Amino acid sequence: MMKKTVFLLLLFVGMLNVSPIAVQPQSPASNFEIQKLAEGIYAAIRKQPPLMSFDPNNVFIINDDDVIVVDANASLAGTKELIAELRKLTNKPVKYVINTHWHDDHIIGNQAYREAFPNVEFIAHASTLRDRPTVGENNRQQMLAGGKEYAGHLRKQVEQNKSLAGTPITEEERVNYLSDIAWLERALAEAPNVKIILPTLTVEDRLTLHRGARTIEIRHLGRGHTAADLVVHLPKEGILMTGDLVVWPVPLVGSTSYPAAYSATIEKLLTLPAKVIVPGHGPVLRDNEYLKLMSRLLISLKDQTAAAVVRGETLEQTRKSVNLTEFRKLFVGDSMMRRILFGDYVSGAGVAAAHREATTK
Ligand SMILES: [Zn+2]
Repeated sequence: MMKKTVFLLLLFVGMLNVSPIAVQPQSPASNFEIQKLAEGIYAAIRKQPPLMSFDPNNVFIINDDDVIVVDANASLAGTKELIAELRKLTNKPVKYVINTHWHDDHIIGNQAYREAFPNVEFIAHASTLRDRPTVGENNRQQMLAGGKEYAGHLRKQVEQNKSLAGTPITEEERVNYLSDIAWLERALAEAPNVKIILPTLTVEDRLTLHRGARTIEIRHLGRGHTAADLVVHLPKEGILMTGDLVVWPVPLVGSTSYPAAYSATIEKLLTLPAKVIVPGHGPVLRDNEYLKLMSRLLISLKDQTAAAVVRGETLEQTRKSVNLTEFRKLFVGDSMMRRILFGDYVSGAGVAAAHREATTK
């Protein structure tokens, strides 16, 4: 039980480090690559394979006089490392940090931005002010309370060459588990110094920023990954930053998700013209195929769960009757790591969240 609970919590804090075995863990933050998306627009894309816990992608929008950053990171050290990278690109100050939602991996770093840029403003959806100090803080405390034990559990799995699924560990899993251990150890070490900085500017549906010739649209398209998801759209450049509404290679339908609304939100996202899509986690996408597949999965999850609830099924019965085999194959392929992620997030927390939604309306 412990395994399952902490496993799910991790994702909302996530960050990872691909550290070679038998070598001291490197800084868990340094696994990103700066990619130029357009003039003055750079993405920091995580290079790691799919993991249980990780840092998000970030985007720097460098304007005439200032910089806008999309998403803070999972740790103070990781955020400082990213700020150092930004300094190599420009000496303009960061004016806004947009937190696409309130999960730890997208908001912890606010503190490092405040220290480096005292006048910075933090933009998030209005519900962040309600959910972060309550459910967000509760999730964080649970993660910190169980973190040490879970890191030890993962370490044992690696030492015994055993997957969390009970099968022999694959190389991909081994890298992931080591990464998660390093991430957790860093989170635990930093915890006494972390102070969550809440948004100073909130958005209900839409906020448009004009910086010189650049237009930055910040939109809330509906509930999905959380109730607070913001996306950032640069219509002229055709660039879309989705936050965790889109996560590759497995969608994060977690315990604080809203599966019934999620597919409609993705459909709205598909109407925003974009040649370049930066997901919350995963590589830059150059077409809509992955979003369309996500939409199909979410519709199927919603419809099957709603039908189960109409038949009077409990959550346990619903878990058995909802059949996502077709989608599991498409998202997971032959990767055990992805199979574990799909099992925990989509079949596990996703079905539970959909059942909760269908029974509490
Ligand atoms: Zn995230």
